[in-house]
Amino acid sequence: MSISGIEPKEASFWEAEGEAIRCQLCPHSCLIPVGRTGICRVRTNKGGRLYAMSYAKVSSIHLDPMEKKPLYHFKPGQPVLSFGGASCNLRCQHCQNFTIAQVGLEDMPLRTVPPREVPALCRANASDGIAWTYNEPTIWYEYVMDASRQCKDEGLFTVSVSNGYIQDAPLRQLKDVIDAMNIDVKGFTETFYETICNGQLAPVLRSCETAKEMGVHVELTYLIIPTKNDKPREIEDFCQWVRDRMGVDTPVHFSRFHPDYKMENVPSTPRSTIEMAHATAVSKGLEYVFIGNMPSERGENTYCPDCGLILVRRSGYSVEVTNVVNCKCARCGRDTDIVW
Ligand code: SF4
Repeated sequence: MSISGIEPKEASFWEAEGEAIRCQLCPHSCLIPVGRTGICRVRTNKGGRLYAMSYAKVSSIHLDPMEKKPLYHFKPGQPVLSFGGASCNLRCQHCQNFTIAQVGLEDMPLRTVPPREVPALCRANASDGIAWTYNEPTIWYEYVMDASRQCKDEGLFTVSVSNGYIQDAPLRQLKDVIDAMNIDVKGFTETFYETICNGQLAPVLRSCETAKEMGVHVELTYLIIPTKNDKPREIEDFCQWVRDRMGVDTPVHFSRFHPDYKMENVPSTPRSTIEMAHATAVSKGLEYVFIGNMPSERGENTYCPDCGLILVRRSGYSVEVTNVVNCKCARCGRDTDIVW
């Protein structure tokens, strides 16, 4: 029996290796002996079968602006009911949600929300959709799938805010149940991922490319941490990859770091670094480049890449859609590249 009286669900994506289990959900590919749990703290080998111990266990529910995810080109200005669970498959030293993402199931209060109740909760909160956020949705996979399907069946939209640390097969199965993703690219070197996040960069980049290929609306967030992932060359390489592999119409958010968790001794990102990143992205031809966690008129609004007309004006979480007619720029007629 689980901590709140509901049975855990048998997990997907695993194979037996003797009595142990090889989990195939994320690139860690944990080999889990009987009675033990994977790196994510929520998938357990019980008697030779893998169980999703966090199924339907919810740590947080809030009504957020879509811009807080951040998603700027998906239903701008709409509120979205946002769900968080417990734990993560990465160990980022700068985790901004460490109170729920860097602890186990026993370490926090959790409530049980069966998937069938999720659409009604969205409607009761005047939200036309659901966001899986606050901690890593990948390790909540079975619940995210079941509840997202319920939402889609009832005409709601679905959003995932993810670290992209997922294997190819499970990612591809999200195609019909997830409409939009914001994926963190946390740095652009393998060293950063190995030393700061206990992960790898290459699978994250593959996930971004695959999600885009699948037709999911994808936006990218790059949190710039002084001395860790802020070298101009690294930012330039990231922008070049976006240009070459994701497309210039992919919205990119450069976000300002605040000292947190195990990086309390690292200072906030200077404005000049964020502006360098913004300028680099623009110089690479990226069309929608945004700045987060720091006021910046140029970095908050959406401008038409062809004629420069302002299309969506943002200030904090206040959003005004302007100069858009039939989903196109009112002046030059170019598509806005926004899912309305
Ligand atoms: S999802 Fe969890 S158990 Fe599975 S491979 Fe990733 S960290 Fe390991």
